[in-house]
Amino acid sequence: MKFTELGLAPEILRSVADQGYETPTPIQAQAIPVVLSGRDLMACAQTGTGKTAGFTLPILNRLAGAPRVAGPRKIRVLILTPTRELAAQVEESVRTYGAHLPFKSLVIFGGVSMNPQISALRSGVDILVATPGRLLDHAQQRNVDLSGVETLVLDEADRMLDMGFIHDIKRVIALVPKKRQTLLFSATFSDEIKTLAATFLTDPGYVESEKRNTASELVKQYVYRVDRERKKDLLIDLIKDKGWYQVLVFTRTKWGANGLADKLLKAGIEADAIHGNKSQNARTRALANFKSGKLHVLVATDIAARGIDINELPHVVNFELPNVAEDYVHRIGRTGRAGVEGAAVSLVCVDELKLLHDIERLLKKQIDVIDYPEYAPDPSIRAEPILMRSAGARSGGGRSGSGRPGGGRSGSPSRSGSGKPPAGGSHRSGTRHH
Ligand code: AMP
Repeated sequence: MKFTELGLAPEILRSVADQGYETPTPIQAQAIPVVLSGRDLMACAQTGTGKTAGFTLPILNRLAGAPRVAGPRKIRVLILTPTRELAAQVEESVRTYGAHLPFKSLVIFGGVSMNPQISALRSGVDILVATPGRLLDHAQQRNVDLSGVETLVLDEADRMLDMGFIHDIKRVIALVPKKRQTLLFSATFSDEIKTLAATFLTDPGYVESEKRNTASELVKQYVYRVDRERKKDLLIDLIKDKGWYQVLVFTRTKWGANGLADKLLKAGIEADAIHGNKSQNARTRALANFKSGKLHVLVATDIAARGIDINELPHVVNFELPNVAEDYVHRIGRTGRAGVEGAAVSLVCVDELKLLHDIERLLKKQIDVIDYPEYAPDPSIRAEPILMRSAGARSGGGRSGSGRPGGGRSGSPSRSGSGKPPAGGSHRSGTRHH
């Protein structure tokens, strides 16, 4: 299949060529014809599958084919995303793919001043990308008119539900016309997502890209066994010895992310951390520096890294394994994307052997262990329960679970790492202000 066979306008094919894309990804090949036909769509696709172009290209095509009615510009396409980072990225994609078309796009999200957004909205927008909370703030203040929306996209709908946005989504849907095209993208199809689709989609086409929980074959996965106290030194050595220049490192806690970034900096490695306690500006700046190559290492928590898309990211490091095995697949999905090979490296201490086992069970394969004799684990060190300090302050059952006192006993590796959510809430629930 070639892009030229999809019936896209020449201006769009030009942008696709500008990007160097040769063939549509599977999700694009399936989704583009459905969207072009005007039908609703339910798509099961994770980040990294090319889903953004999968909806953006045909949407632009439909806009280009049906010029707007005379009068002031009205928002014709509304794309809702769970996080600010994803919103910014999607809007960047809209700009990229729409570079040869006359449409105006805008991204709005919380955590920054409303005034520039208000002026931008007033000046007229065709395609609006937004996080639900900030969009509703604008709607309440009558800064935004959604009565002309022809296409509504719910991107990463499962994340939006996990983050407690269901009521916000319903409120937004009440503001857009009933007669519209609705596209729902989700990495998973839980019962909740099915209910959402049954409520808001009409006779949708269904497309699915990659099976859930299958790690991309383009990602080489390795484990280094190391003692918990020596992980930082090992990471520094790996980065320096191997000359890694763009590494996304995952820690389990915000506190851990900060500590690690500091230690790397002290070792002369350009590093920064992103997590929910950082201001939006600091996060945007860190991400931009990382993308441009100014920063060699970005340390992130799972939530902060959600949806981050970095072209050709060569290395992902699990400084700590995630508590939930599925998060491992999400994490390593940051590398090895759309045809570029990447490596995912996990530093695993004795506390995490159970987590590693859970991950391997999910992947249905063993991850290769690399021997690094200098860092060979000390067999006398016993497993301890995993501490979740910075998450422990949060009530309501955040994804990281509650804090546990240290001082574990031998023979009980990572009891907090059963892969189950902490009591009192789903591991996917969490605050929206992450
Ligand atoms: P997404 O899943 O939308 O986050 O896209 C993942 C990455 O794949 C992005 O960096 C895109 O630029 C890239 N991409 C999207 N479509 C294609 C394609 N047809 N060929 C090569 N790369 C692509």
